[in-house]
Amino acid sequence: MSSIQKGQENQQGGAVAEQGEFGHKSLLRSDDLYQYILETSVYPREPKYLKELRELTAKHPLGPISAAPDEVQFLDMLIKLINAKNTMEIGVFTGYSLLATALALPHDGKILALDINRENYDMGLPIIQKAGVAHKIDFREGPALPFLDQLIQDEKNHGTLDFIFVDADKNNYINYHKRVIELVKIGGVIGYDNTLWSGSLVLPPDAPTMDDYLRNNREFVLEFNKFLAVDPRVEICQLPVSDGVTLCRRIC
Ligand code: SAM
Ligand code: CA
Repeated sequence: MSSIQKGQENQQGGAVAEQGEFGHKSLLRSDDLYQYILETSVYPREPKYLKELRELTAKHPLGPISAAPDEVQFLDMLIKLINAKNTMEIGVFTGYSLLATALALPHDGKILALDINRENYDMGLPIIQKAGVAHKIDFREGPALPFLDQLIQDEKNHGTLDFIFVDADKNNYINYHKRVIELVKIGGVIGYDNTLWSGSLVLPPDAPTMDDYLRNNREFVLEFNKFLAVDPRVEICQLPVSDGVTLCRRIC
């Protein structure tokens, strides 16, 4: 199981306890193949300021919690394929997946960006500004759940979003789903990150390769995946990109 990344995220949404031995962000069993994907298909096409933010984020002690370069390339393609314009991101960190989203959106596109901590976003903000897309972002600092509850109270917000990317505290994914399902339009897409939880979902609960954070949150991710699998309001697709991304298309 050398390719399993231990503790890819921690309590803050969360940090890396330890990375796979090659330090990459994929569950692919071949590290060489993952490197091949990055070098052949991702890096040569990576927008200049996205690269700058990726490199800046890599210097942050929690850097590895940000999305993977191939994952944000996927988000870019998805956002364009569905012609998304009004979007939301829950869990911003330094803004790496946020910048990828902002670059993919049309000039008048919008992202409501929620994070409990503004400090890390402020680190990435100058690069987002240089990229000329800061005007698309409405950043709100604070815990996401009460903010979502407030949004839902106003029926005008229901069914207004084309795309939502959820990448914050995993123990609240079911709570997020219960709320964002009201905000995404029918036919719109919700993407949930880290739904394969470093491959730990198929390990015995007492596996010695799991640190406490991975072990504690594993139950929440298992429960969330089961919950989504039977939710009749959405069609789902589990992608083994990066640490696992589940797409949900709202159908009713
Ligand atoms: N999406 C980012 C990217 O790929 O570049 C990474 C987000 S990081 C994995 C998770 C973020 O969720 C952290 O910045 C953390 O502060 C935030 N977070 C954790 N709990 C939260 C909560 N209850 N409400 C809002 N944000 C939260
Ligand atoms: Ca993530």
